[in-house]
Amino acid sequence: MTSSSVIVPPDVARDVIELRRDIHRHPELGFEEVRTAAIVADRLERLGFEVRTKIGGTGVVGIMRSKRPGRTILLRADMDALPIQEETGLPFASANDGKMHACGHDGHVAILLGAAQIIAKRQEELSGTIVLCFQPAEEGKGGAREMIRAGVLEDPHIDRVYGLHLLSQAPSGVIRVRPGPVMASSDSIEITIHGKGGHGAAPHETNDPILTAAHFITALQSVVSRKIEPVEPAVVTIGAIHGGTIHNVIPDDVRLLGTVRAFSPEVRAQMEPRIQTILRGCCDAHGATYDLNYEWRYPVTANDPDEAAYVRALASRILGEGRSEDMRPTMGAEDFSFMLEQRPGCFFFLGTQRDESTSAPHHNARFSIDEGALETGVRMMVALALDAPAPAPPADADSKQR
Ligand SMILES: [Zn+2]
Ligand SMILES: [Zn+2]
Repeated sequence: MTSSSVIVPPDVARDVIELRRDIHRHPELGFEEVRTAAIVADRLERLGFEVRTKIGGTGVVGIMRSKRPGRTILLRADMDALPIQEETGLPFASANDGKMHACGHDGHVAILLGAAQIIAKRQEELSGTIVLCFQPAEEGKGGAREMIRAGVLEDPHIDRVYGLHLLSQAPSGVIRVRPGPVMASSDSIEITIHGKGGHGAAPHETNDPILTAAHFITALQSVVSRKIEPVEPAVVTIGAIHGGTIHNVIPDDVRLLGTVRAFSPEVRAQMEPRIQTILRGCCDAHGATYDLNYEWRYPVTANDPDEAAYVRALASRILGEGRSEDMRPTMGAEDFSFMLEQRPGCFFFLGTQRDESTSAPHHNARFSIDEGALETGVRMMVALALDAPAPAPPADADSKQR
């Protein structure tokens, strides 16, 4: 396969942008992607894919088997929007109040459906099996995990997984790849500190849960600064604190909500006992008790080093040198991590920033993309479909090849 062999015909490029605008105008939250899933299923069916719907909720899978032997690869796009009121002022801005495609998942769906058109036309050139996976509920609800539970990696058995995410912090059309961990694990904590309420003028008759919470929040930061090896990234953030009603009453309880991030499974595993120890100590010191609900949510997103090198090389080959860069690690999280826990693969990024108007961060009400980058996404997905399932070279061949 040469770079010139992955061309996106102008009608497909136009269609991808129109489709992205249509999906952008009709955003749906996690596990509610009924309209989006229907569009996906309809398109895949018309293109001749074997289509399965309602996989892990609203998930859709399109399968194309070739006549040649080879790997089975999964290409993934997430479909969900966010509960944000859009402020872009774009002509195709969200028509659904309080919902917005502010992470670029509309683009992911359009890219993969654009790729599907080209893959279907070039069926004769395929090896192995291509599985296009349209996933619900990436934003916090773990749609990828639900699709795995529903068997998406087993029937047919998937050998490799690839996912792409748009990135407004990178120049439009540039691919960013990182071997190994690229995004953090994300776990959440919900704490209630139970004290003993009373008069604000008689603190000696109370066990003040607000003071306990204050000590705990301060001491909590010593988990990262004193207990985790300094070269290992980790974050603990308390994002909400609720307690009390008025200036002169000490309340019974205080409730705290927080997020815990780590960049390796080992550090991730250390966080819960460390946090628990500090919480217990603070509560003991102040005569309070606590409930801790520690929810393990998304694992570390870790790319297989060989697969990351492969995607990077493929990007150079298809797009030309200078269009792919190293990805900086981020403490954001992704549920594609569940797939990468099960199979080797690569989660990579595609820049969408052209100018000021396309520079807002993800999850911002003014998030917007340079649609010109979508074509690059289509080319990458088609290149993976045409190239990645090719049978691996024999074991005695250059082992540095894939
Ligand atoms: Zn997001
Ligand atoms: Zn996202």
